[in-house]
Amino acid sequence: MIYVKASDQHGRGVFARCDIAADTVLVVFQGPLLRREQVEADSYHLQIGEDLYIGASGGADDYVNHSCEPNAGFRDGLALCALRPIRAGEEITWDYSCAIDEEDFTGFSCACGTPSCRRVIRSFRHLDPITRERLRPWTLPYLRDRYRSPAGQGCI
Ligand SMILES: [Zn+2]
Repeated sequence: MIYVKASDQHGRGVFARCDIAADTVLVVFQGPLLRREQVEADSYHLQIGEDLYIGASGGADDYVNHSCEPNAGFRDGLALCALRPIRAGEEITWDYSCAIDEEDFTGFSCACGTPSCRRVIRSFRHLDPITRERLRPWTLPYLRDRYRSPAGQGCI
């Protein structure tokens, strides 16, 4: 259903091999569990909890790129799902702010090229309240639990 290949925007990306219906599970993220102190900044990792990360799995999940207007998001744990129908050949993307929530994360620049590009990918807690509300349904479970209440009222 999906495959890894060179991406125009990034080194590598994940693409749809065929037309994919909305809500389809695309890939389940996995990898060794790591504490923050075990994470190396320049190695692949995904934040999945306050002090919990997963490292590289070696699979397609390591190569799914960010977009500020993604076509995939997390709806069921670490299962990345299609947010809308995805056409064959389209790059699969998710919004990295749906996972990152470090207080001291200074962000990295984004050049996804979408009309609503935020220019900088930030921690979920540092997004403006409107963006947080928009992304909330696609965030990882630990963020949905942490920011249950309306925008700006999260129990940080
Ligand atoms: Zn962007």
